[in-house]
Amino acid sequence: MIDIAVLAVQGAFEEHIKHLKKHGVNGFELRQKSDLDRPFDGLILPGGESTVMGKLLHQLKMFEPLREKIRQGLPVFGTCAGLILLAKTIEKDDTVHFGVMDITVRRNGYGRQLGSFRRTAPMSPLGEIPMVFIRAPYIVSVSGKTEVLATIDERIVAAREGNMLVTSFHPELTDNFSVHRYFLDTMVRPHLSD
Ligand code: GLN
Repeated sequence: MIDIAVLAVQGAFEEHIKHLKKHGVNGFELRQKSDLDRPFDGLILPGGESTVMGKLLHQLKMFEPLREKIRQGLPVFGTCAGLILLAKTIEKDDTVHFGVMDITVRRNGYGRQLGSFRRTAPMSPLGEIPMVFIRAPYIVSVSGKTEVLATIDERIVAAREGNMLVTSFHPELTDNFSVHRYFLDTMVRPHLSD
């Protein structure tokens, strides 16, 4: 059985856990430092408020151990605020959270008020999938080995680099499991046999 830890200090973590459970995958909440003692095979950084999550990660002393695990190759999937946490650069902002992925991100890229919408668009290699955006960031540019997986109106909304997958939308708020399955199949399962 695969165990996926979902960061649960703030934001939309319950939706990820429900989404995983519905598809027969065990997800559990990472609420405090001691939760990191339990072994897990992959990590989800959910949507929410990246600034608040960043602060809480430091206060709870979870920031350094999590960054170390990600740097060492733990498979990680960041949605929305989770994407911002992984980015090396946040536009017009000196803040860097984990700073591990070669992407430059624009927070609240669709505006704060009219920022929530739903679209169906192709994501490589999954084909058309439903995408829910909530005050979403988008990726302005990628560099290094980062691969773009989905673009809407020339804005990058999904990408991967090594052990890291990010989407600026929320697949856990749809009935479609293909993005999570892609994370499990291409990142988590291959990592199990390392
Ligand atoms: N706007 C939020 C941020 O900047 C992200 C929104 C979300 O995760 N739904 O952190």
